[in-house]
Amino acid sequence: MSANLQAAIGPVCESFGHDRTRLLDILLAVQQRLGGIDDRAIDAVAAELAIPRVDVAGVVSFYTFLAPKTRGQLVIRLCNDLPDLMMGAEEVAAGLEAELGIRFGETTPDGRFTLEWASCIGMSDQAPAALFGDVVVPRLTPGTARRLVAELRQQPPGADLHRLLVRAYGDGANAHDLVRAAVENNLRQAGEVIFAQVEPDAGLSKALAMSPAEVIREVKTARLRGRGGAGFPTGMKWEFVRAADGPQRYLICNADEGEPGTFKDRVILTERPDLLFEGMTIAGYAIGAEHGILYLRGEYAYLRAYLEHVLARRREKGLLGKSVLGKPGFNFDIRIQMGAGAYICGEETALISSCEGLRGDPKNRPPFPAQRGYLGHPTSVNNVETLCCVPRIIQRGSGWFASIGSRRSTGTKCLSISGDCTRRGVYELPLGTTLRDVLARCGGEDAVAVQVGGPSGRLVGPDAFDREICFDDLATGGSLVVFGPGRDPLWVASQYMAFFIHESCGYCTPCRVGNVLLKERVDRILAGRGEPEDLDYLRALATTVKTASRCGLGQTSPNPVLSVLDNFRPACEARLKEPFEGRQTGFDIAAKLAEAQRLTGRKSVHFDA
Ligand code: SF4
Repeated sequence: MSANLQAAIGPVCESFGHDRTRLLDILLAVQQRLGGIDDRAIDAVAAELAIPRVDVAGVVSFYTFLAPKTRGQLVIRLCNDLPDLMMGAEEVAAGLEAELGIRFGETTPDGRFTLEWASCIGMSDQAPAALFGDVVVPRLTPGTARRLVAELRQQPPGADLHRLLVRAYGDGANAHDLVRAAVENNLRQAGEVIFAQVEPDAGLSKALAMSPAEVIREVKTARLRGRGGAGFPTGMKWEFVRAADGPQRYLICNADEGEPGTFKDRVILTERPDLLFEGMTIAGYAIGAEHGILYLRGEYAYLRAYLEHVLARRREKGLLGKSVLGKPGFNFDIRIQMGAGAYICGEETALISSCEGLRGDPKNRPPFPAQRGYLGHPTSVNNVETLCCVPRIIQRGSGWFASIGSRRSTGTKCLSISGDCTRRGVYELPLGTTLRDVLARCGGEDAVAVQVGGPSGRLVGPDAFDREICFDDLATGGSLVVFGPGRDPLWVASQYMAFFIHESCGYCTPCRVGNVLLKERVDRILAGRGEPEDLDYLRALATTVKTASRCGLGQTSPNPVLSVLDNFRPACEARLKEPFEGRQTGFDIAAKLAEAQRLTGRKSVHFDA
């Protein structure tokens, strides 16, 4: 190892106690110092931690925000999520390329700027948006993007571009000094649970006067279900973790809202961090955990200083640490784990892998995290919004909570609403609210379609607008993207398939290859070259990908195609060419395999689950 590398990497590893499970943090810190993680840096980190080189290289290659080669001094990541494309991201991209004289994926010859696309940076309500380093710059136009880059280019070589950006764009609409961003919260409607004005930590005080079993019983009686989308009963999950054997238990809060079109956790983290940490502390008490981890998506790095500040304040007040609020024997603290740009890490086992300093590969289940989770210990992974409901349930009672919403979906739901509507932002509404009501509130009455629940959810048309947003009807983790007249459902499906192709971890073939084939066939129809049997082909292949994929990503990735086939079939049929006699219809596995081999360049393609 060269002396320079050792000087850069040694202290970083030292600051994390040479702990291999903090590899992701170590690599993020090394990258910040060196601008990238090249082969020599990988060797140096491996030597310093005494682990195989492949372990380090595997993590570097997995995460979008880690670069295996040195990038420019400032990486500009323009979001190409659907709402951003609808609001002109491609024109902004053209402006950036023209100003910098490079294409996306390239670095300027002087090594100062790199242009990259980002899947979703959680700013769909103020699109098009980009990350300039860690600094969020929303509401871009081609003109503002060009002017900003031109300004940055005028800075002398070696100038701290990041600091300049924070100074110029870090005084936005947020009321908190430490949230340095031009991001607006766009909280359009505060509900009774998450965004209500409440007495701080009243729920925690009350919970600590109860036994852990009583806390769990109250959460069960409230019928609180996980707000991530799957709706698993929270109290039951906690019961499993508490009952599992092991010397330690862990609580992880999933703040990796990577589902495109979702941004409500960004607003909760900005407006209600104390409520979240209070909920995490109560959860820790209920399951018997001493350690909590907030897994914060890399795109929200601008919130980290603020959240660390709130945690420090809570430690000073005795709300975290030894004997929380004087409760003998209850010790609990929270650390923040940064993500690094991987949608799959929203899946709970992948998220646990990421917290362990590994690639964010999903794990096989069973064992479930409640039995063997973080570092092999029983672990409860809960969503930000779920944990924020807990203090309110304890404070006001399970009966109060259960009286809000519908019978099987109690409480409120925070919705992130973007796309073709006039009042984009976050709405906290009782579960059971109809989609039509939601559209009226956000100014989306002209909608011809709404994507409910992000790409892995479903695209519905006007005949579904009287359905209810709840676990048992239109379930959503929180994302609603509104499409107005003139938007093409097939184009929507094609864009979402591009997203899944990008985010697939590649482990299993149905997901890695099947999504490519689905997009290709959708694009063929979009181009007017589709044939009648293509619709059957799409349905059969989509069903194969759903049933044979290993994790939730692959199991839900064909949903955009399936919902277009189910809900917008006339739009698909209108684009098809005339059939001709003798053509085979249906799903031809041999043809599919041959096509997969051609597209992937692989000789051997197995549909292994
Ligand atoms: Fe990876 Fe398979 Fe999950 Fe797709 S379904 S993300 S390839 S494990």
